[in-house]
Amino acid sequence: MKGKFDYDIAIIGLGPAGSTLARLLSPKYKVIAIDKKIFGENGFQKPCGGLISADAQKALASFDLTLPKDVLVDPQIFAVKTIDLKNRLIRHYQRFYINLDRHKFDLWLESIIPETVKIHSNAICTELKRKNGGFSVSYLEKEETHTITARFLVGADGANSIVRRTFCPEKQIRNYLSIQQWFPETHPNPFYSCIFDPETTDCCSWSISKDHQFIFGGAFPMDNAKQRFERQKEKLEKIGFQFGEPLKTEACLVLRPSSFRDFCKGEKGIFFIGEAAGFISPSSLEGISSAIYSARDLSRVLNHPHGDLNRRYWKKTLKIRIKIGLKLLKCPFMYNSFLRKLVLKSGLQSIKIDGTTNKGKNPAFSAK
Ligand SMILES: Cc1cc2nc3c(=O)[nH]c(=O)nc-3n(C[C@H](O)[C@H](O)[C@H](O)COP(=O)(O)OP(=O)(O)OC[C@H]3O[C@@H](n4cnc5c(N)ncnc54)[C@H](O)[C@@H]3O)c2cc1C
Repeated sequence: MKGKFDYDIAIIGLGPAGSTLARLLSPKYKVIAIDKKIFGENGFQKPCGGLISADAQKALASFDLTLPKDVLVDPQIFAVKTIDLKNRLIRHYQRFYINLDRHKFDLWLESIIPETVKIHSNAICTELKRKNGGFSVSYLEKEETHTITARFLVGADGANSIVRRTFCPEKQIRNYLSIQQWFPETHPNPFYSCIFDPETTDCCSWSISKDHQFIFGGAFPMDNAKQRFERQKEKLEKIGFQFGEPLKTEACLVLRPSSFRDFCKGEKGIFFIGEAAGFISPSSLEGISSAIYSARDLSRVLNHPHGDLNRRYWKKTLKIRIKIGLKLLKCPFMYNSFLRKLVLKSGLQSIKIDGTTNKGKNPAFSAK
């Protein structure tokens, strides 16, 4: 590429999508990556359940990557307790997740980016413009604003992407406020749960134990999200959940695409990867696998530049979009109360755990 710009490629955001892209780009490119996380325990941390799905494990395996032990947390859990508060049913299903510390996972992915990439951590991208056939990128670092130019711009900055808001303001992807609280773990048996409660949200909630802490989170419609969250906690307390005083509360936007038109394509040298593009499962809100796969797709296109790069990248993401489309088809069976009741009552693929009747009814409900 010509030396008209400071950088060939500017990546905004170093979550699983941005870090994977930065790692895979050819060293022939001059790359800058800007992320607001601090490389350490303090500062911004992405609120997340920190569960690595089988798909995400496969994505990591495809790069021959293995997870370091210190990103894992205690305990590893093999079943999800599916709780339907409306139909008063509980079922357990086998799951193959890896339970990890999401912040440490992000830092690990960032640590394996080659030194050829210029990383600015603890820097916030504040303004983006098209300039001379490329882009000018302004970011705030140590209270000073810097501006660089780049030929290509990659939005890897998640649900509330500044890149998407700047260049595709018309793109409104269905979204929710995700709230998570952390508590000291007091349950006798750590567990992972997925909760459906149409009275408080048409999306889902979850809980998970991590290193003697208990996380409860959910995705709620924007209006009265906090009240909805608290209302759901009250209901869960009645069936045995133990909350107490939260150690911390975190919140962020989470996207939930509702149709094929919801994905954000990007054009003329702007690319979106991961959740910034809308690549997240609308059924489970699992997004790490699509973040990694879309970054891999983009690296393959940019490393072999010919033809219309935006078109080639979008074509490559078809598999991801089909996978998410299939999850959309799955949604009614999870989120329609009647269909969910049929599925849970059928017991199909569920695991029988002591204390649960073979009709999915649970003593926890009848106790109250
Ligand atoms: C509460 C919650 C729980 C979830 N649980 C799971 C789960 O258990 N498993 C799973 O697979 N998925 C889960 N998801 C979804 C998953 O977290 C995301 O889909 C995934 O992180 C997307 O990766 P990404 O790299 O595209 O974006 P992100 O992980 O969001 O990364 C974006 C990065 O951009 C940076 N950034 C953003 N704006 C700026 C800016 N202006 N300047 C500089 N940097 C910026 C941020 O620091 C961040 O590092 C969950 C989501 C939420 C909200």
